[in-house]
Amino acid sequence: TEKNVIMDETAIRRALSRIAHEILEKNKGIENCLLVGIRTRGVFLAQRIAERIREIEGAEIPCGELDITHYRDDRLMDGGVMPETGDLAVVKSNLIMTSGSGRIHDQTIILFDDVLYTGRTIRAAMDALMDCGRPRMIQLAVLADRGHRELPIRPDYIGKNVPTSKHEQIEVALKEYDGKDEVYIISN
Ligand code: 5GP
Ligand code: MG
Repeated sequence: TEKNVIMDETAIRRALSRIAHEILEKNKGIENCLLVGIRTRGVFLAQRIAERIREIEGAEIPCGELDITHYRDDRLMDGGVMPETGDLAVVKSNLIMTSGSGRIHDQTIILFDDVLYTGRTIRAAMDALMDCGRPRMIQLAVLADRGHRELPIRPDYIGKNVPTSKHEQIEVALKEYDGKDEVYIISN
């Protein structure tokens, strides 16, 4: 097993600063925007971007988190936990707003995840969000895009493009959860 650092603390900080600026530029500010991090590490990325935007604009941006582990289509199939129509309420309860109101109607939601791979997690996240209301727009930010999409999904904001082979993996360490900021590529 080989482990190579592809982003160190400085590279992560710069990428997130750039993404904060890109978000402000693309949305002409942050009015009617809300950030939603996908657990676990996407939540910390969203919080860091919110903090950076607070520094740049002096404005608060509502933040939330989404846990979609059990709603990925392939895992539902594997685990035999098929979703029934009545299960929408369960998906709904999975969006937790940590700041600001949970109103998503007509809002621009910016989703955050650490690594983008097949796109199935994001598809499930969008399903969960759409069950909560009708956002005006959903955008996607990821720290690393490792390719191999199986769905027509592309990120609007990318920390780093990391072309990988299918047997390579990306390891993301973030201070809040892992004690340090580093992104590695692991090949077996
Ligand atoms: P997807 O659903 O796009 O196939 O996979 C994305 C989700 O699985 C993300 O939530 C991400 O955290 C996780 N994931 C997929 N591939 C990797 C990887 O190589 N490294 C890490 N750290 N997470 C991954
Ligand atoms: Mg994840």
